[in-house]
Amino acid sequence: MIEIVSADKKIRVRFAPSPTGMVHVGNARTALYNWLFARRMGGEFLLRIEDTDLERSEAHYETKLIEDLHWLGLDWDEGPGRLNNAPEGAYGPYRQSERLEIYAKHTKQLLNEGKAYRCFCTPEELAQDKTKAIRTHQPQVYPGRCRNLSKEAIEANLAAGKPFAVRLKIENHPLRFHDLVRGEVEFAPETVSDPILVRSSSETPYAINAFAGTGVPVYNYVVTVDDALMGITHVIRGDDHLSNTPKQVAIYEAFGWKVPEFAHLSTILGADRERLSKRHGATSIASFREMGYLPEALVNYLALLGWGAEDGKTETFTLDELARVFSLERVTPSPAVFDFDKLNWLNRHYIKLAAPERLAKLARPYFAARLEKAAAGPESWLKRLVALLAPSVDRLDELPAKAAPVFDYDAEAARANPENAPLLAVESAQKVLAEFASRVRAHLGPVTPEIFKAWMNEIKAATGAKGKELFHPVRIALTGAHSGPEFDKLLPLIEEGSSLGLGILSVRQRVERFVGV
Ligand code: GLU
Repeated sequence: MIEIVSADKKIRVRFAPSPTGMVHVGNARTALYNWLFARRMGGEFLLRIEDTDLERSEAHYETKLIEDLHWLGLDWDEGPGRLNNAPEGAYGPYRQSERLEIYAKHTKQLLNEGKAYRCFCTPEELAQDKTKAIRTHQPQVYPGRCRNLSKEAIEANLAAGKPFAVRLKIENHPLRFHDLVRGEVEFAPETVSDPILVRSSSETPYAINAFAGTGVPVYNYVVTVDDALMGITHVIRGDDHLSNTPKQVAIYEAFGWKVPEFAHLSTILGADRERLSKRHGATSIASFREMGYLPEALVNYLALLGWGAEDGKTETFTLDELARVFSLERVTPSPAVFDFDKLNWLNRHYIKLAAPERLAKLARPYFAARLEKAAAGPESWLKRLVALLAPSVDRLDELPAKAAPVFDYDAEAARANPENAPLLAVESAQKVLAEFASRVRAHLGPVTPEIFKAWMNEIKAATGAKGKELFHPVRIALTGAHSGPEFDKLLPLIEEGSSLGLGILSVRQRVERFVGV
């Protein structure tokens, strides 16, 4: 079902990250849901950089987050870092640090209209208010000391150079809004007090120049001004912002702006039901990429993290498919538990679907150390190696370990391995190995699967060994393990690999080491 929206207004949503760290799964899910909603509804999706926290914002995080979003397959209609250097759009600038004059102008407007006031309370006074509230078990809200200062008092304070913050004068309680995930939300009057819009410049002396002496406008304020001026119709974001929303609603009301629809997405938890954090392992998109998760797997997984298909069972979706079926109505308010097993399952699914060329390209970095000695890039060899091993991994970074039978042959370890020893101790094993070794010694050129097959038939006839008894000793001698990837494909990779100058031992060298010359 399609969400009811007024037909005359184009849907506009935004992702508004602060460039203060790497994009983690929670933020990426927010970006994805915004993107999906916009695409589904034929609306517009914007990227806005919320970098007014000068101390914590860093430009390289902005570059990284743009990279991460593109990697996930998301694009945006407005904002910095669009694909192909497309223009940023008509509602810019899209970086809050470039919009300070806009905020200052709006602050002036609110002060002039008496909808905001200067608060001269000192940090000590505010700390005392807080202590008192805690002692008397009252909500920690601003008691309104500066709400109704006389004009003369204000003038005197200003003349004395007293620093001040700017607060919104909330007129209407209770504050209510509609949330597409949670329904009607209302905040009791005693829990929301006049919020600060612009922090006192005395608190952040470093910012006096940066903010032209106006103090630092706070998140709740700038986010509202921007969402309104950028024509945002639906604010979709994490539920950590739920408690900020009444303050934002009060700001919309003070300006006489239309309050948008909200959709607050549930918290993401770890398996222990605590908020997902680094303690639970990887949480940044970059770290998932480094581990060899495919973007389509991560996107698919993130989509399911709080949303489910209408039929209640389909779990694999491409980004395009999601853009056709996603609906905010099916987003659940209950916390979502991050399930690495499910993500791995999806990643395996997409690894199996991926084209061999692409997989080889994605896998190459994991083999960088092993391939660095190669004169020319052994692309087609690597492609076959990866195609052989990939179906057995959850993540591409597991590939080098799976390739150990090719790269890290060690005859001594193979003999000593407690799993191999009893298989080699079987009477027929030595006979099989002797027969095999004599054929290898007498053979010139690489051992092909056809030759290998013919030999094994001969050895079977000569020794009477068959099945595992026949194959286990040979496999152990050639790869170090009695089981592993499909042998017909592995054998040519070993033989061809040995001529690539990568230190890979040939069948002949392996037999020499295992059985002796
Ligand atoms: N910069 C805020 C954040 O990263 C944006 C919140 C919002 O979407 O309003 O949490």
